[in-house]
Amino acid sequence: MDRRTFLHSTSAPLGAAALASLLPERAAAGSPGAPMPQAPRSDIVVIGGGAFGAWTALSLREMGHTVTLVDVYGPGNSRATSGDETRQVRVGYGEREGYARMAHRAMDAWRAREAEFGIPLLVTTGRLEIAPDWTPALRATQSMLARFGVATEAFTADDLRRRYPQMGFDGIGVGLLEPGAGVVRAKQAILAAADAFRRKGGTLTIQRAAPGRAEGGRLVDLALADGSRLAAQQFVFACGPWLPKVFPELLGRRIHVPKRDVLYFGVPAGDTRFAPPALPNFSESAYYGFPSIDGRGVKVCPTNGPDNWDPDTDERMVDPMQVRRARAYLARRFPALAAQPITETRVCQLENTDDEHFIVDRHPAYANVLIAGGGSGHAFKHGPVLGEYVARRAVGDATDPAFDAMVRLAR
Ligand SMILES: Cc1cc2nc3c(=O)[nH]c(=O)nc-3n(C[C@H](O)[C@H](O)[C@H](O)COP(=O)(O)OP(=O)(O)OC[C@H]3O[C@@H](n4cnc5c(N)ncnc54)[C@H](O)[C@@H]3O)c2cc1C
Repeated sequence: MDRRTFLHSTSAPLGAAALASLLPERAAAGSPGAPMPQAPRSDIVVIGGGAFGAWTALSLREMGHTVTLVDVYGPGNSRATSGDETRQVRVGYGEREGYARMAHRAMDAWRAREAEFGIPLLVTTGRLEIAPDWTPALRATQSMLARFGVATEAFTADDLRRRYPQMGFDGIGVGLLEPGAGVVRAKQAILAAADAFRRKGGTLTIQRAAPGRAEGGRLVDLALADGSRLAAQQFVFACGPWLPKVFPELLGRRIHVPKRDVLYFGVPAGDTRFAPPALPNFSESAYYGFPSIDGRGVKVCPTNGPDNWDPDTDERMVDPMQVRRARAYLARRFPALAAQPITETRVCQLENTDDEHFIVDRHPAYANVLIAGGGSGHAFKHGPVLGEYVARRAVGDATDPAFDAMVRLAR
C-alpha cells in the first residue's frame, strides 16, 4: 500500500492496532534489525501551531486523519509570529494573483470559521493604500480586485482630504480603498482553531520537537525535549521563524528573521475619528497601521528592524528609535496623535524568504516531511485556506500546480 492509499484509507480514525499494522517495519538507528522502542503513533504530526500549523492540523483532522499538533510554547503564544493581537485581511495583492485568489477565498472562510467558533474574530475596517502617484503595483491591485468582483474606490488628493479629514496627505496624490478589507483578532483566531482541533479529536502536545531517526529516506519519528519519541507516517514542520533553527542547513540561508516593533498610540479623549468606520487600515511605503480596535489605540508598524532575531531568547522591548520614527510619521499623517502616549507595544518577527513567497515543499532528504512556512509578512490572512492547502499537500491530494510551483523550495 503506498502513502497515498494509506492516507486515504484512514479517512476514519484507526485504532492503534490497525494503525500499527499499516506502519512500515523499522529498525532503531545505530542497531540495524533491532525493534524500535515503543512510542505513541499518529498518522500525521504537525510541528508548530501558528497560522500555518494550527489551520493545517485542523484541516487534516477534519479530513479524518489522526493528527497530533506539537508546539513548544502552545498555539498562539506571544513569541510566535501569529501570537500578535491583530492581523490584516485583504484581497489586494499587487500583481501576485495566486495570493490574491487565496486571500479572496479566505475572506469567506474567515466568516464561516467565525460563525462556527462563535466568537467575534473579524472587524471590517477597509484598507486605504496611499502613494504620491499611481504605481504599477497599485494599478495591478485595482484591476485584479475588479476581476475578482471586489469593490474598490480610487481617490485623488482632494478626495482623500475630504473623506479623511483626520489625516494629513502631505506628499500623497492618490489613494485606493478596499472597503471589504479588515482586521482579524489574530491570537484569538489561533487559540480558537487549536481549540476546535482538540474538540474534533486532535491531540495537542506542548513540547519542543526536533527531527528524530530517519530510515530509507523517510523520517521515522520526532525527538521531543522530554526525551520521548513521537512516530508518524507524515510530518509537517510549520515552525515559522524557528524553521532555520530546525533545519539549519536547508533553511538557514533561505529564511531570515528580522525584528518588527509594533506601536499603539492612544487617541484623544472622546475622539471617535481614529476607530472604524471613520478610519480604515492605512498603508504606504515605509509604514502601515490599523485604526483603534478594542480601544487599543492606533497601531503603527514601521517596516524595518534589525535582522537575525531569536524568537526564543530575545527580549520583546521596542527600540526607542522606532518610537521617534513613528512619532515623526504621526506628525505628518495623523497630527492629532503625534503627542498622544503609547498605550501598548508588541515585538514580533518576520520569517522572510528573499522573494517573499511562502515555502511549502517536501524536505529533500525525507519523502514524508513537508515544510510549510516562510510567511514573509503576509501569511496570516490566508490561514483557513492555507491550512487546507498544506493539508492536501501533506496527504498527496491534488492542488493547484501553479501555486505549488510558486512555493517550492528550489526556486
Ligand atoms: C509585525 C507583523 C505584522 C504582520 N502583519 C500581517 C498582516 O497584517 N496580515 C497577514 O496576513 N500577515 C501578517 N504578518 C505575517 C503573519 O503574521 C505570518 O506570516 C504568520 O503569522 C506566520 O505563521 P507561522 O505559522 O509560519 O509561524 P508562527 O506563528 O511563529 O508559528 C510557529 C509555531 O511553531 C512553534 N515551534 C517552533 N519551533 C518548534 C519546535 N521545534 N517544536 C515545536 N513547536 C515549535 C512556535 O511555538 C510557534 O507557535 C505579519 C507579521 C509581522 C511580524
